[in-house]
Amino acid sequence: MSSSSEPAVPPVGLNPGKLTLEKENTYFVYVVLIAVGVWLCLALTLIGLVYAAFFGFILWLGNGLLVAYLRAEAVRVNEQQLPRLHATFLEVCARLGVRQIPALYVLQSGGMLNAFATKHAGRDFVVVYSDFLDALGPDSVEMKFILGHELGHIQSRHILKQLLLAPGLFFPLIGPAYRRSWESSCDRYGAYAADDTEGSLRAMLMLSGGREYGRNLDAAAFARQHADERGFFVSLHELTSTYPTLSRRVSDLLALRTGARVPAPRRHPLAYVLALGLPGGGPSAGSGLLVMVVIVALLAAMAIPAFTKVRENAQAQACAHQQGMLASALDQHYLEHKKEIETWEEVAGDGKILATMPVCPGGGDYSAERTETGYVVTCSVHSHTAEKAGASPEASSP
Ligand SMILES: [Zn+2]
Ligand SMILES: [Zn+2]
Repeated sequence: MSSSSEPAVPPVGLNPGKLTLEKENTYFVYVVLIAVGVWLCLALTLIGLVYAAFFGFILWLGNGLLVAYLRAEAVRVNEQQLPRLHATFLEVCARLGVRQIPALYVLQSGGMLNAFATKHAGRDFVVVYSDFLDALGPDSVEMKFILGHELGHIQSRHILKQLLLAPGLFFPLIGPAYRRSWESSCDRYGAYAADDTEGSLRAMLMLSGGREYGRNLDAAAFARQHADERGFFVSLHELTSTYPTLSRRVSDLLALRTGARVPAPRRHPLAYVLALGLPGGGPSAGSGLLVMVVIVALLAAMAIPAFTKVRENAQAQACAHQQGMLASALDQHYLEHKKEIETWEEVAGDGKILATMPVCPGGGDYSAERTETGYVVTCSVHSHTAEKAGASPEASSP
């Protein structure tokens, strides 16, 4: 595969300091603003923070298990194990200026042609599926493209951003657009690492057409599919997807042969409207859970203050009713005995005016004061008659 008959065509206009697309940086600003807003809302309601911490813990556990699975089941690539792939990896790391070399693993995955990058406890991991290695070969340009793409994710700190910016990533339209720009940027890292647009295209076409026929597909014809399929559902698929379509990625790679700009795709306007109602996110396993936790946390953040308010109002009403009851009991006692009470037991208890002493639902203490018009009872918590409340704090009458 490395000994392909076609001559290498280095990409035009890729410079190692500027592989990340401008639009990724633009979307980054929007997504940070959304994420900071949501995190602040969560922080304002303590319960939101509890959910966030709980959820962070679940994510951390899941990621820890994934990495443990790699360490235990996948093949760690080094000088002894798959040395040709190891050498290719070091070469690509050097070309992209990666100083801290991530751990590279090869994982058997039932025929899937794919690779991914992840991070755990401060260490970076790149994983290539074994069938993809079989298909591409350990030192091909195609492999350099794939490794370069994954190292692009690591260089751009996309795994950390996925966690910190999660609330923004699930925002409709903007979240998926930002995620798609990650992939487009990383394809540029890959093309730069491979230093050959033809080899990069072959790798991409193999992702689309499979290991047997993929490499012989006509890139230009596949890229035209992107320009031709501009209907409502394709537009909706594109707007809600976290990956650019493969035809779009091929079309972007083709443009690197000449340095031409790919015009922004025309999309069905209705698709934008519908996509606005669909949360971002994609096929990644954790995303559904993440959306749910964020929604639950937001609902809790909104519902808890409202619930507290309703409960407080109900308590104040019940307390006001009891203050009235106590006041009339005291009035009645005064009429009967012509003297003020020493303790509440004189009006409340077995055989007294009130069978039991009312208890404030908010935990307040009652105090009473005799005025010309009768008794006024106040509560230390619900002091409706605060202006009249005397200094007498407890049950003692003045
Ligand atoms: Zn990627
Ligand atoms: Zn009260």
